[in-house]
Amino acid sequence: MITQVLTHRVEAPLHTPFVTALRRTGTVRTLIVEVRDGDGHRGFGEGPQVLQVTGASVEGTEACVAQVMGPLLVGRDPDELTANCRAVRTAVAGNEAAKAALDIALHDLAAQRLGIPLVRLLGGTALRVPTDVTLSADEAADAAAARVADGFGVLKVKVGADPATDVARVRAVRQAAGPDVTIRVDANQAWTPRQAVGVIRALHDEGLNLELVEQPVPAWDLDGMAWVRDRVDLPILADESVFGVRDLVEVIRRGAADLVNVKLAKCGGLSAGRVLLRLAEEHGVGTMVGSMMESPVGVGAAASLVAACGTTLTSDLDAAWWLARSPVEGGIGYDGPVVVLPDAPGLGVTGIADNTVEV
Ligand SMILES: [Mg+2]
Repeated sequence: MITQVLTHRVEAPLHTPFVTALRRTGTVRTLIVEVRDGDGHRGFGEGPQVLQVTGASVEGTEACVAQVMGPLLVGRDPDELTANCRAVRTAVAGNEAAKAALDIALHDLAAQRLGIPLVRLLGGTALRVPTDVTLSADEAADAAAARVADGFGVLKVKVGADPATDVARVRAVRQAAGPDVTIRVDANQAWTPRQAVGVIRALHDEGLNLELVEQPVPAWDLDGMAWVRDRVDLPILADESVFGVRDLVEVIRRGAADLVNVKLAKCGGLSAGRVLLRLAEEHGVGTMVGSMMESPVGVGAAASLVAACGTTLTSDLDAAWWLARSPVEGGIGYDGPVVVLPDAPGLGVTGIADNTVEV
């Protein structure tokens, strides 16, 4: 029986500030939830605060969990995973971060009760998931050279902070990284459709050999994104335009993107994430799994999804790599550009770290 649902508001410092067209941050602020059963197991999940993208705050996420979802789960059978996740999904409107946090924790708990890693519960066995690494919007050649020296073969360059200098920055990154590194760019909604066509054509015409362009226009402007996609040669990846299943249906219907970036904090967890990957696959839309700036709990869940279900693109799961120290004990690690899942029950997370600031 599920006996307790707890929340931990934590803040963890980054070793390098993270800058996009939408925000600048030096810390990860996130809500870790913990679902306990009567047998001593502790399932962990995470809902990161991303005010500028999802609107989620730790306080709002905590309110959902403490006031509605937690009381709904206490007393239920933790092995009724599908029914429990449905109860979470239908408990409140919106609040995907809260839904993701509990959906992940329920999966972690169910896997622990079976004594198997989360990836096995999801139907896979791999424990190593390659990831890209992001270059912030204020970084360029030096950071590119440093990340390539760290072993990363896929760089994601944040653009859009200044459309006038985007092409020059990406050119500098290509020169520093060399010809063999894969480079993808993410505009984080920064461009109008006309600006997007201009910059993307310039990037293409320079022969910079880019893999894709992520979220060139505002999230709501699916017609604008389809218009851009019709006029450029680089593949378009939808990120902020696709939170849940209904959003992906609309992107497919309008032909707005070639690829989709699935994130648990947008779609509400592993249950919805699996559906998104399957829906995309059925419609010939390429897939990537990414994350917000979050801890080894959320990144471990996302990496487990990739290890079990597979994606067409290299994952975007470097978030926990940016942490100066982890807010939890156990969980994933990084071996150069590879996320390493622990060969342990569930997510392998055993608790909140002693030196973690609970805020
Ligand atoms: Mg993105």
